[in-house]
Amino acid sequence: MSAASTPGKPVPRISAAALHRALCKDEIIPFFQPIVKLHSGHLAGFEVLSRWKHPTLGFVPPDRFIAVAEKSGLIDMLTRQILEHAFKAASSLGESLTLSVNISPVQLRTPELPDLLRSIAKSTGFALDRLVIEITESALIGNVETALAIAEELKAMGCKISLDDFGTGYSSLFHLQSLPFDELKVDRSFVGSMALKRESRKIVGAVVGLGQSLGLKTVAEGIETEEQAAMLLWFGCELGQGWLFGKAVPAEELSEIIAKPRWRLPAKVSPDGEKRHSTFEASPSHRLIELQALYSGAPIGLAFVDADLRYVNVNRKLADMNEASIEDHLGRRISDVIPEIFPHIEPYLRRALLGESISEVEVPLPHSRGIRTLCYEPARDESGEIVGISIASSDFAHKRHSHAAYAIAAD
Ligand code: C2E
Ligand code: MG
Ligand code: MG
Repeated sequence: MSAASTPGKPVPRISAAALHRALCKDEIIPFFQPIVKLHSGHLAGFEVLSRWKHPTLGFVPPDRFIAVAEKSGLIDMLTRQILEHAFKAASSLGESLTLSVNISPVQLRTPELPDLLRSIAKSTGFALDRLVIEITESALIGNVETALAIAEELKAMGCKISLDDFGTGYSSLFHLQSLPFDELKVDRSFVGSMALKRESRKIVGAVVGLGQSLGLKTVAEGIETEEQAAMLLWFGCELGQGWLFGKAVPAEELSEIIAKPRWRLPAKVSPDGEKRHSTFEASPSHRLIELQALYSGAPIGLAFVDADLRYVNVNRKLADMNEASIEDHLGRRISDVIPEIFPHIEPYLRRALLGESISEVEVPLPHSRGIRTLCYEPARDESGEIVGISIASSDFAHKRHSHAAYAIAAD
């Protein structure tokens, strides 16, 4: 069933009186769009999206009538109608599935919303701990105190609060700290251009990381391709929604979606296009903790240098090998910290910056102290650009393999 108005028939301007008549005739109904767990492909829940089942125009989308409802004071009536239908339909869904509903900014400016939700939940037998309330940032402009009081009441009732369309509104970061959010929805404009635009990829990666570091669930909207899903998975985004998984459907079609065992998702793909078949689902902050532990405990010297060959991170082992403190490395160029070794390794560093992985290079240590074995791995950011090199090194008092030693001589 199409969710849009009948093709070829432009939707005329909608009056408040026409919308009121539609509400009285029960023509505004909920559609449901699946929200999927990206790491497993299992259904997590649905977002409720309003449609006007117009007798001649077909299904009229919400951007044609929500603003009219807000301006004319019909929004509470519309919300009540939509939620009554949605909560009833949801009673036949599994108890673990969530229902996300959109609440208008004006509804966070008056204190009626919690009572409205309580009364509909009671009459339909819907458990409010399954409800996610999606609000946009415009709800918070100039009105944070009232919004906070309402949000706290909703949380006390068991509801979760989600910040919808994150990144498109006014002063996004400011608003993120003003309400007790549980979830962040990455706007579909970024997701849509992610595969083509490096900036969008960087923004999506940063927003997912931001959500994770704040302990919020992250949901990506508008996923249309497998490539986008795989990239989001790589960033560690938890939930996804979009035409790849299905458009919004009427209540009659819900059972068909629920019967589906799961969506088959592609392997996660890093922005450099490399497939990573891994069961490791750690968030970036967990990866950072793991990396620090690895650095401190490693029996070999480890470092990360940026594209200017300055040390960004070094472990204790490498600092000892270079006979300098960790602090004496950070922010300084390799050429300044180990001037005698640098001429031998510079060609390899330059090749690594062009994208080559180089292993088992052996270079002489000064004063015939032995040899240093080095591995260089280029490191890329979310957009696939090389931003530095990860270096692993070990020192040996004597040459290990005669054939590999002084490989630099050949360069
Ligand atoms: P939203 O909450 O950000 O909802 C997501 C919108 O993206 C929906 O548009 C959905 O149909 C669309 N969408 C989902 N996946 C894809 C995709 O893969 N590609 C593309 N191009 N679009 C996708 P829709 O249903 O037209 O709703 C538009 C907006 O209207 C919603 O944006 C929401 O802010 C508002 N809205 C919808 N229903 C209600 C309601 O009952 N009450 C209130 N206050 N607002 C509502
Ligand atoms: Mg929404
Ligand atoms: Mg949205």
